Amino acid sequence: MSKSCPKCQSPMQEGYSLDNAHGGARTVSSWVEGEPKPSFWFGLKVEGAPIAIESWRCSRCGFIEQYAKG
Ligand SMILES: [Zn+2]
Repeated sequence: MSKSCPKCQSPMQEGYSLDNAHGGARTVSSWVEGEPKPSFWFGLKVEGAPIAIESWRCSRCGFIEQYAKG
């Protein structure tokens, strides 16, 4: 599967956005429904089911397009 940039029509590379969690654990950024609510213990209180974000980056202009497929 390949995509082209909607801004400059150059090829886009598939990737993901890296999330450096507290303690250095590396994970993939996720999309969660609703507003972010602070939690004393965990940084944020997550009530919904997180969906991993698929991220495409244009190799020419740097535009990033993201998809959260459920
Ligand atoms: Zn582009």
